[in-house]
Amino acid sequence: MADSRIINTTLIRDAIVQLIHEASFQLHPETRTTFIQMRDTEESGIARQTLDTLILNDDIAKAEQVPLCQDCGSVVVFLEIGQQVIIEGEQLNDAIHDAVAHAYEKYYLRKSIVADPLQRVNTGTNTPSFIHIDMVQGDKLGITVYLKGGGSENMSSLHMFRPTASEDEIIDYIVQTVRDAGPNPCPPLFLGVGIGGTADVAMLNAKKAVLRKPGSFHPVDYYRKLEEKILHAVNDTGVGPLGFGGRNTAAAVYIKEAATHIATLPVALNLNCHSLRYRGTIL
Ligand code: SF4
Repeated sequence: MADSRIINTTLIRDAIVQLIHEASFQLHPETRTTFIQMRDTEESGIARQTLDTLILNDDIAKAEQVPLCQDCGSVVVFLEIGQQVIIEGEQLNDAIHDAVAHAYEKYYLRKSIVADPLQRVNTGTNTPSFIHIDMVQGDKLGITVYLKGGGSENMSSLHMFRPTASEDEIIDYIVQTVRDAGPNPCPPLFLGVGIGGTADVAMLNAKKAVLRKPGSFHPVDYYRKLEEKILHAVNDTGVGPLGFGGRNTAAAVYIKEAATHIATLPVALNLNCHSLRYRGTIL
C-alpha cells in the first residue's frame, strides 16, 4: 500500500490566504497580454479606450495593492485531494472559511456574503465560501481559489437541450445569452461552457472551465474548433468591452464536457467578467 502523507490545515489555511491576495490584486500575466492584444486589434475607438482603462486598472491594483474590482467576489474553492493525503488539524471546511475571513479582513477586501438569501444580513466575513472537493490519486493536495463577482454570476444560464440539438442551436443559445446580458457581466468575458453531465454537473463544469491554464487550448480538436466558432459568434454581437460596442465581447471561450444521459444535453454558461481572478497551488 502506498505511503500516506499528512497535511495540516494550517498549511491549507495559509495557502488560501496567499492565493486570495494574489488573485485580488493582479491579473494573470496572460490575461493582461490578452487585453493588450485585443486593444491593438480593436476597431472601435471607445473599445480601445476601455481596454486601455482595464490595463491601467491592473497597473494601479498591483502598484497600490488595491483590489482589481470593488466587488471582491464570492470565494469558490476547488480542492483536489490525493487519496494518500491525511488531513490533520481543524475541520477542513472551517479552516477554509477561517482563511477567507482572515484574508478579507487583512487585505481590506469588500465582504459581500449574506447569511440567508431572503433575509440578507451580511455575515461580515465574506464567508461561507463555496467548496468543491474531488478525490484524485497520489499524495498531493491541489487548491484553486476563484473569486467570482455578483454581476457576472447573475448572468449565468442553463438550458436543457434535446439530445438531438445541433451545434448551431447551441451556439445560438450562447450568443443570445451574451447579447441579453449586454454590459451586466462586465465584458470582455471569459466564457465557461459546461456541456453534458446532469444539470448541476454542467453548471459546475462551466465554472471549472474558465480555470484552464491561461492561453492553453482544449486538448480535443473537436472542442477546440467549437470554442473558436463560439468565440467568433459571440464577438459578432458587437456588445464590446463593458458593453460600449466593439469587436471584443469575449476574450476566450472554454468548454468542459462530461458524459451524459441518452435523453439529456445540458448546456451551462458561466459568464466571467474581465476581472478574471483565480490562483492555484499544490501542497
Ligand atoms: S462583474 Fe466582475 S468586473 Fe463587474 S463589478 Fe462584478 S466583479 Fe467587478
